[in-house]
Amino acid sequence: MEQHAVITRVSGPLVEASGMERARMFDVVHVGKERLLGEIIALSSGTASIQVYEDTTGIMPGEPVVNTGAPMSVELGPGLLTSIYDGIQRPLASIAEQSKSAFIGRGIAADGIDKKKQWEFVATKNKGDAVSAGDIIGTVQETSLIEHRILVPSHIIKGTIQTIHPGTHTVTETIATVQDASGTVHNIALLQTWPIRTPRPIKRKIFPSEPLITGGRSIDTFFPVAKGGVAAIPGPFGSGKTVTQQSLAKYCDAQVIVYIGCGERGNEMTEVLNEFPELIDPNTNEPLIRRTILIANTSNMPVAAREASVYTGITIAEYYRDMGYSVALMADSTSRWAEAMREISGRMEEMPGEEGYPAYLASRTSEFYERAGLAMLLGSTERTGALTVIGAVSPPGGDLSEPVSQATLRVTKTFWGLDAGLAYKKHFPSINWLTSYSLYVDNVKHYWAEHVAPDFAEVRQSAMSVLQEESKLMEIVRLVGLESVSDTERVTLDIAQVLREDFLFQNAFDPQDAYTPLAQQYQILKSITSTYEAACSAIEAGTLSYQQFAALPEVAELSKLKEHKPEDVASYETFRERVRTALQPQNNSK
Ligand code: ADP
Repeated sequence: MEQHAVITRVSGPLVEASGMERARMFDVVHVGKERLLGEIIALSSGTASIQVYEDTTGIMPGEPVVNTGAPMSVELGPGLLTSIYDGIQRPLASIAEQSKSAFIGRGIAADGIDKKKQWEFVATKNKGDAVSAGDIIGTVQETSLIEHRILVPSHIIKGTIQTIHPGTHTVTETIATVQDASGTVHNIALLQTWPIRTPRPIKRKIFPSEPLITGGRSIDTFFPVAKGGVAAIPGPFGSGKTVTQQSLAKYCDAQVIVYIGCGERGNEMTEVLNEFPELIDPNTNEPLIRRTILIANTSNMPVAAREASVYTGITIAEYYRDMGYSVALMADSTSRWAEAMREISGRMEEMPGEEGYPAYLASRTSEFYERAGLAMLLGSTERTGALTVIGAVSPPGGDLSEPVSQATLRVTKTFWGLDAGLAYKKHFPSINWLTSYSLYVDNVKHYWAEHVAPDFAEVRQSAMSVLQEESKLMEIVRLVGLESVSDTERVTLDIAQVLREDFLFQNAFDPQDAYTPLAQQYQILKSITSTYEAACSAIEAGTLSYQQFAALPEVAELSKLKEHKPEDVASYETFRERVRTALQPQNNSK
């Protein structure tokens, strides 16, 4: 422990201290008389720069600094799920209790995980079993949705179980002992800790090929993200980033969700915090919070804790991935994280890069997204776990050439470009279908073919072509009017309108509309595109005019396709059969 370390300078969330000769980078320190929590982020000959996770008002030079000698870490173990934390894993409920006011008090120490709660540990290994790092030695039913798997910590490379103690335990009690090759005996408890800035180890990454199913039609069908993939949602203020992230957190088919509200306005986060514990999973009828961990770091909380919150979140997410789960992490908004980085860097008087962001913005951003992936996990059996990361970016004025958007786009493979113009027209989600992309399409195509329909990718492509064609035709219509386009082109315009208004438009607040199963998305789209193709053929054959097409009752029904019962595939087939019959040459003589 440092004995004589004292504060020499205070600049907002950044404190400098001398007498820190024995400190190491990223050590956690207690700053000042109130023992505010901080982390060393720069060191030079006994002087440490410390980012402080709490409000530094009133802190003065000369006050003591105490080094804990340990890196900034999170507690991992049963009890994480259903928790609502601040950026440094303090449960909001216990901070509120200790603060005794609406504002967060200072110097509050609160355990990330309840140390008194008893859990029922079921052993899956026996005394004498050989184990290696990452192996599962037992389980705890953490919530009704998730079984917590207890892993051999990664520092125990190989060993033999000496003792194992099934039954009721708190998280700190020893539940097993493992002797390694050197004869050292290690105690294993339900609780482990892990430094937040170090990725948890895996054997290797595999390119992901199963889509994360979200129930969002635009996302699932047109711009999918794979389980273990990375997606970015850039969009200006009010374009729907938060609503999209929240819908994903509610409906996506990941098993565990980590939601980081980073620097968002307090009232938005309050909505999430109030709403989430009430939500019921439509698939399991269980409260969604039982698979969820929320990290709330609003714009009025200290800036350094915001910087840490994304690391706290992703470390927890990796831990559940290591159990073999499919985990999805949503960070809203990573721009606020980057701004926190910029503020701290500015106060350290580092050489600024573009727009004042530190030169390491791009490398920090890619290091963060690199922690996503479909992983071959540590351990003696072949197991995989997936961590999908979805980051919202809020470029000022929606200008994607700014540094945070650029750094993000370089590393994310799915891009949901939210469009202010669409949001203004109340077209939600405002994902621009012409600029958005997914580099996972070629990989998830096989999943679609096997699990949904052999021609899923073709139907998707055919719908996409109609939308692209529409944008070209609209230019012509704008210049020379609707009279200048052919009958086939008018059909294209009508079908594109159906695609936009009835397929892509999806109201996140309408319980019926908010989630469309993938199989139903396919049925709707197939019905629209087969109507289009049949109509084009009939027009080319000279047996149908645009007016006849527009007057068909089936065309009016296209906008009602999503109202069919999701599982009623036959109703879509009947519809397509009716379209075929109606458009057969003998039924349409000009
Ligand atoms: P941002 O986070 O980009 O500032 P929000 O997610 O808060 O934007 O969205 C702004 C508003 O747009 C919401 O309050 C809501 O009224 C509307 N909105 C966004 N997405 C949807 C959607 N999918 N369905 C219906 N309304 C939406």
